[in-house]
Amino acid sequence: MAYEVVNYVNGKAVAPPKASWGPVFDPARGVRQGKVCMSGAGEVAKAVAAARKAAVAWGATPAPRRAEVLHRYRALLAAHADELAKIVSREHGKTVPDAAGEVARGLEVVDYCTGLPELLKGAYSRAAATGIDVHDVRMPLGVAAGITPFNFPVMVPMWMFVPAIACGNAFVLKPSEKDPAAAVRCAELFAEAGLPPGVFNVVHGGKEAVDAILEHPDVKAVSFVGSTPIAKRIYAAAAAAGKRVQALGGAKNHMVVLPDADIGLAADALAGAAYGSAGERCMAVSVAVPVGEDTADALVAALKKRIRDITIGAGGAKGVDMGPLITAEHRSKVAHHIDTGVAEGAVLAVDGRRAPRTKGGTAKGFFLGCSLFDEVTPEMSIYQEEIFGPVLAVVRVRTAADALKLVNRHQYGNGAAIFTRDGQAARGFCEQAEAGMVGVNVPIPVPVGFHSFGGWKQSLFGAHAIYGPEGVAFYTRLKTVTTRWPAGRGHGAEFTFPRSD
Ligand code: NAD
Repeated sequence: MAYEVVNYVNGKAVAPPKASWGPVFDPARGVRQGKVCMSGAGEVAKAVAAARKAAVAWGATPAPRRAEVLHRYRALLAAHADELAKIVSREHGKTVPDAAGEVARGLEVVDYCTGLPELLKGAYSRAAATGIDVHDVRMPLGVAAGITPFNFPVMVPMWMFVPAIACGNAFVLKPSEKDPAAAVRCAELFAEAGLPPGVFNVVHGGKEAVDAILEHPDVKAVSFVGSTPIAKRIYAAAAAAGKRVQALGGAKNHMVVLPDADIGLAADALAGAAYGSAGERCMAVSVAVPVGEDTADALVAALKKRIRDITIGAGGAKGVDMGPLITAEHRSKVAHHIDTGVAEGAVLAVDGRRAPRTKGGTAKGFFLGCSLFDEVTPEMSIYQEEIFGPVLAVVRVRTAADALKLVNRHQYGNGAAIFTRDGQAARGFCEQAEAGMVGVNVPIPVPVGFHSFGGWKQSLFGAHAIYGPEGVAFYTRLKTVTTRWPAGRGHGAEFTFPRSD
């Protein structure tokens, strides 16, 4: 049944007056299943006003009391994990177990933030000078905002709003308009956990809503996750407006396979990392770099076999490994990249363009099969550009040094992985790879919740990575207090030190 997704402001669901609406598709069936309100500057202003008001009391609430709310939120999220996963799968198209995985990764961020009295504890220097003590406190910023992509509708918003709120800020989230429902459910559950109205607000929409956030003087910090062209724009606009900003962009993650690697293990890892979630992950591996012809031949042969075993279908159907793409336009864009790769002279070892047989989907669904390109070269656009679909490019190189060069010369530097049994090679790769997150025999090295997530080069604009200790630094500002108590008329003289007796 068709449904409406509306804003969540000041603890209540609110449909903007005279709202315009955007479609929410069922990607497995290719039909509209709902609609989402597309907000303008007026709706953003209401959400920011509610947040600004709520931020005062929330920021002054003792950290242990805020942590209690987070503990209750954690329990509620765990109790509703299946429900959230089904909402994600229904709108995004990824399989329910995959969506459950993203909810679990989001929960890790909540886990970390429940320790917020410890995280916000400042440093103290006793007797920094004679009679003078110095201490640091980390203060909230006020109102922070987040703009998130379609591919992780629960986890990526949680990277932002959980640490921001834990640190004592109020938050305005503008989720992707393509799969907006999960964000609202996250806000409702936070309210049920005891979060005061106005501390967490959700405003739906597209560019117009984002521009209003960027222009609003009461928004002190902006977190963005999405494609690189938009990330660059957000970074420049928010910085020009004097805001703190972190903008995470696109990726083209390489996985280097050395001749001594366990090829079976590497192929299993690649099949999941390249085609899981239909390749719509910023940490998906989209380039495999086998070193030496024998390694390449063995890897490509093993990958072809793995691809044959991947079951494609609706995210909610049992036994499905890979769902559809997010929209018909995105499916066409990915298919166009495959056409381009063929025209550029790469060898299309597995062609995913033929309509795949699907389990639980329909012919109108936004499905593509898995594609595997062999003999891709660095000049080709299918190597240079982010495709964000189920397409893996194999670039054959002669030496390990050539593989490293490839990783380091690419415009993106989100993640990079190496598969090898050679500890020295692995250590050298970790040291020298120009990427923010590196995996050793781990294809998708997404840091756990108590570390931080962030790429290098065109994959992140700003000084801070996201969540973990970097998130706490981003969502707080440092205040350093220098204290001296001169001799007064009270009992101070009785406590002079050092004492002589
Ligand atoms: P996108 O850039 O199209 O959209 C991201 C957000 O920006 C959405 O909320 C969207 O409504 C908004 N937006 C879109 N166009 C805009 C414009 N012109 N002005 C202002 N706002 C605009 O990204 P997407 O397609 O939703 O997500 C896929 C991209 O996100 C991929 O490039 C992927 O690599 C990237 N991503 C990166 C990370 C990371 O951590 N680095 C994580 C997840 C996704």
